[in-house]
Amino acid sequence: MLSNRSEMVVAWDFETDPEFEEQLAWMRDFIDRELIPLEPIFDELPRDEWKIVQHHLQDEVKARGLWGAFLDPELGGIGFGQLKLALMSEVIGRCMMSMTVFGVQAPDSGNMELLAHGATDEQKDRWLWPNLRGDISSAFALTEPFFAGADPTVIGTTAAKDGDEWVIEGRKWFITNASVADIVLVFAETNPEGRPHRHASVFVVPTGTPGMEIVRDIATMGHPGASYGRQGNHAEIVFRDCRVPADHLIGQPGDGFVLAQQRLGGGRIHHAMRWLGQAQRSLDIMCERAVSRHSHGRPLAEHQMVQDYIALSHMEIQSARLLTFQTAWQVDKYGAAAVRADLGMVKAHVSKVVLAVLDRTIQVCGALGYSSDLPVESWYRTTRFGPIGDGPDEVHKSVLARTLLKRYTPVEGWPTEHLPSRRPSGEAKWRELRTLAGIT
Ligand SMILES: Cc1cc2nc3c(=O)[nH]c(=O)nc-3n(C[C@H](O)[C@H](O)[C@H](O)COP(=O)(O)OP(=O)(O)OC[C@H]3O[C@@H](n4cnc5c(N)ncnc54)[C@H](O)[C@@H]3O)c2cc1C
Repeated sequence: MLSNRSEMVVAWDFETDPEFEEQLAWMRDFIDRELIPLEPIFDELPRDEWKIVQHHLQDEVKARGLWGAFLDPELGGIGFGQLKLALMSEVIGRCMMSMTVFGVQAPDSGNMELLAHGATDEQKDRWLWPNLRGDISSAFALTEPFFAGADPTVIGTTAAKDGDEWVIEGRKWFITNASVADIVLVFAETNPEGRPHRHASVFVVPTGTPGMEIVRDIATMGHPGASYGRQGNHAEIVFRDCRVPADHLIGQPGDGFVLAQQRLGGGRIHHAMRWLGQAQRSLDIMCERAVSRHSHGRPLAEHQMVQDYIALSHMEIQSARLLTFQTAWQVDKYGAAAVRADLGMVKAHVSKVVLAVLDRTIQVCGALGYSSDLPVESWYRTTRFGPIGDGPDEVHKSVLARTLLKRYTPVEGWPTEHLPSRRPSGEAKWRELRTLAGIT
């Protein structure tokens, strides 16, 4: 097994209490011991047997009080807040399958945040708590084939009230886990006359509801040979006269966009937290290769271009880590809504960093890096969704730029104050300061 050198090179100031540090140490050891050894054979494991083993491992995590830690206590979870979650998620991110073992996997985590914010007590009993316990799983259906997912104010799926039921019509695609989930949270237009951000609503549609058809699981970079009904696949779904009772609406008609923001905002930084762990483990692999392999009479580690890859990767990971942790701290202090643009910034930045580090690791590992003998190529393919998913990075950068630009107003006569013509006033100021300082 490739050793983990992360602890040796990382020193941060986001220290927590000793009990939590002990929990983190346990997590590292648990993942190294129980999960990482399975990586090379994971795709071949019989799924039904893996489910049983996974339950057993999940029970160990629950017994340690570490299960489903993304949901903050005030929302009914056992969460520790976003900063501690960031520390935990980095450990979890080192191994893909640890997400489900620790109960923090997307899209369930985001869906639970949505339900925690918007569902009634009765709805929480039916869907949130079973989802949090791991008794049921969920998917979230927003993206559609014929409308840009980047702009969720324009969608084709509709829901119309008919007596005590809502009737859903439309088509969704790339809906992660829909073909294995028990419920799908469907984003549909209910108030076409409303303002763009008030025209849609979210409904819980149990899979198997008549009129909801899973057309296919779409083959993707992450899962090239999409086999129907595997965890992590991305489904295309058609809704034709699909009827759900009135109490399957979450919140009020028109609340859909606000609720979706609740889940996507948190989800964006949660992805980033886990990518840090993946990037760090990838750098560990790159460094081990560099010190273990020789070319042209010396270790790869002594070639300056390889040193550049290593130094650059470390610099990028450290800055991404600080950005992520600082934003997590801000969420704890001010709430997610106050730092919406920052959450998008974190997603856009860290997704680029992790892909760059993975790419360099593949390069330094040569043919082996390109092969499936190492996990890096699979991580690269899976993580390539990062700059696209949960809103493309371009959109997050636009939101960030617009947020920054709000601080600026046009300056009359600009750029006069920057020009040499302002030299006389600079000279006057200098004379004044010299006099004040007693220079004659
Ligand atoms: C692996 C994976 C899993 C996913 N899981 C889910 C899921 O569970 N549920 C769900 O609802 N969706 C899911 N999606 C869909 C995802 O959220 C969308 O792909 C994403 O929001 C982009 O929408 P789109 O694909 O329609 O691309 P478009 O909206 O068509 O955008 C395509 C490209 O156009 C450019 N672009 C778009 N708008 C702008 C802009 N304003 N400024 C500059 N450039 C722009 C960007 O380069 C963007 O990548 C998943 C996608 C992937 C790849």
